Amino acid sequence: EAQKLEKAKITLNDCLACSGCITSAESVLISQQSHGELCRVLALNKAAAANQQKVVVVSVSPQSRASLAARCKMGLLETAKKLTSFLKSLGKCVHHVFDTTFSRNFSLLESQREFVQRFHKQAEDKKALPMLASACPGWICYAEKTHGSFIIPYISTTKSPQQVMGSLVKGYFAEQQHLPPDRIYHVTVMPCYDKKLEASRPDFFNQEYQTRDVDCVITTGEVLKLLEQEGVSLSDVEPAPLDTMLGSAPEELSTHPGGGSGGYLEHIFRHAAKELFGIQVHSIHYKPLKNKDFQEVTLERDGVVLLQFALAYGFRNIQNLVRKLKGGKCPYHYVEVMACPSGCLNGGGQIRLEGENSKEELQRVERLYESPRAEIPEENQAVRELWELWLGGWGSEKALAVLHTQYHALERASSALNIKW
Ligand code: SF4
Repeated sequence: EAQKLEKAKITLNDCLACSGCITSAESVLISQQSHGELCRVLALNKAAAANQQKVVVVSVSPQSRASLAARCKMGLLETAKKLTSFLKSLGKCVHHVFDTTFSRNFSLLESQREFVQRFHKQAEDKKALPMLASACPGWICYAEKTHGSFIIPYISTTKSPQQVMGSLVKGYFAEQQHLPPDRIYHVTVMPCYDKKLEASRPDFFNQEYQTRDVDCVITTGEVLKLLEQEGVSLSDVEPAPLDTMLGSAPEELSTHPGGGSGGYLEHIFRHAAKELFGIQVHSIHYKPLKNKDFQEVTLERDGVVLLQFALAYGFRNIQNLVRKLKGGKCPYHYVEVMACPSGCLNGGGQIRLEGENSKEELQRVERLYESPRAEIPEENQAVRELWELWLGGWGSEKALAVLHTQYHALERASSALNIKW
């Protein structure tokens, strides 16, 4: 008699991040992190005894908010307020809805500090520069599995906004609520599936409390599915006040200038120009190289190049960059590396708009994303307060432990990642 085989299950740990499957929801069974899993956990939480119930926190990325606003044809603030209201209504047990723009302040400031430190070390440490951005898990996964120990020393160790938010929620916020970290269930809403892989990394698992800094990641598209599942149109939802982790509820949103991937290049460039050369940069001029996803920014004085930065988006440009590095021909001090062509606003988990071509669609999302007030991380009072009181000051041991991570070389003889893009 034919033996019935067990159904194969693929978990996130099996993922190669080859981008062929992780950007397509239908083709991979993501059993650990999905909107279905979120609904299951919320139902269990509601049914649990009062002393067992978890506080549920959802942190929304600004890229996801812009994508939803474009889809629902609403302004960004209106979308944020209605989304807060909708998410809080889920299972009637979501308690807080935060914005990862807040945690990105920490990622940007710490990346600036790390860059200046590496710049000073470049004579004795040949791999101190170029510093390569660390906020994109698609790129990190590719780097670890394809170029391993060669590339890892170049990658900034500063955590991404999602993972800084994880530390803030399960660290600072848990302390404020007098709760152990495992009594908080932390969900993020992100523009790509790669963020699920990032949240699942063992580096972001708290062994002592057996809990992840981010328990569940859902994509922007999955929020849309939740709306459809609940039979709700976001435009009909009553708006709710915005939430905040510290201080009074904000009346407006803010954003970091410098593009939809977080503005790392611009923030580090301005800071380094001032800190290292005493130059105040007023405007940043991008010079396109082979394509719009590979651009250069240079700081010169009297014809001498002081700083040379680049952004490299998409695997084609990333491979080009790695080739230059391996050949000793990479002239850059810093590179903002992102796996998606056009960056995070074009992430694989974003909503595709009906009836628009992809260029128009992206431009609409970009306009919405850039519409709020520009935020200067150094001037954010709540960030300064947390840095002082919770992290123990600039460059403290605790700040280094909380805001940094590590990478692991996972070289394989042959893998899908060796494909030429
Ligand atoms: S570039 Fe793409 S894969 Fe990388 S973090 Fe942004 S959306 Fe995710």
